[in-house]
Amino acid sequence: MNRKTWLTALMIIMTVCLVLTGCGSKKESGAKGGTLEAIKARGKIIAGVKYDTKLFGLKDPATGKVEGFDIDIAKALAKKIFGDENKVELKEVTSKTRIPLLQNGDIDLIIATMTITEERKQQVDFSDIYFKAGQSLLVKKGSPIQGLQDLKKGIKVLTVKGSTSAKNIREKAPDATVLEFENYQDAFTALKAGQGEVLTTDNAILLGMQKQDSNYVLVGGNFTDEPYGIAVKKGDTEFVQTVNDLLKEMKSSGEYDKLYEHWMGVKPE
Ligand code: GLU
Repeated sequence: MNRKTWLTALMIIMTVCLVLTGCGSKKESGAKGGTLEAIKARGKIIAGVKYDTKLFGLKDPATGKVEGFDIDIAKALAKKIFGDENKVELKEVTSKTRIPLLQNGDIDLIIATMTITEERKQQVDFSDIYFKAGQSLLVKKGSPIQGLQDLKKGIKVLTVKGSTSAKNIREKAPDATVLEFENYQDAFTALKAGQGEVLTTDNAILLGMQKQDSNYVLVGGNFTDEPYGIAVKKGDTEFVQTVNDLLKEMKSSGEYDKLYEHWMGVKPE
């Protein structure tokens, strides 16, 4: 082999190595912490939010706008980092896709009605609690089902894949049949179509559905604690700190209470 062939071969090997090790991959920058630097370099945050959950993150199909409590927190974070609340790109996540999308680097953080659990803490890091919900039941007005005790054999309970709601209801109502949907709007559509008698998830999410259709009501009280946290890549302590600082600032300035009251219709406890 002459010198030129050797050099060409070497170049090819080096290129292959670079590709294989992922150098040059845009997603790499946030992997070992450093999400904040990646965000600053990019000029915007990429937030994983719900598109299916009224009051927290709901996309209006007519206008394309996504609105809710979680969305306003994402905007407040953009304001804190860039001084401009519009420097945030919203990406849709579902309960099932949110952790994989964060781990892949498709999103910088999850602000999506996500309960802090020990199991999830193995995969992601959480901010301080920013909302306290509890699992409950939604039924059609006049339904004979009034609580967990009525979820007997033959009763179909609708919920969503990847949620704590699906896991909890199997423990709390082991005799009922649980049907899981991709997202909360699909589950609510199924309830309205009579595919099941009950829909179960967090009370705050059910409240949003009740607002969409007042023929449906919450029953049975709360039977779990669902403290919501904002999730970031595991080990990214600097970014968690930024998020926690934001939550503290929002609480002390009164902005948190204002947002809470705007979306929930009541003052936070
Ligand atoms: N907070 C519950 C959970 O994380 C239910 C809501 C949701 O599916 O996002 O799983």
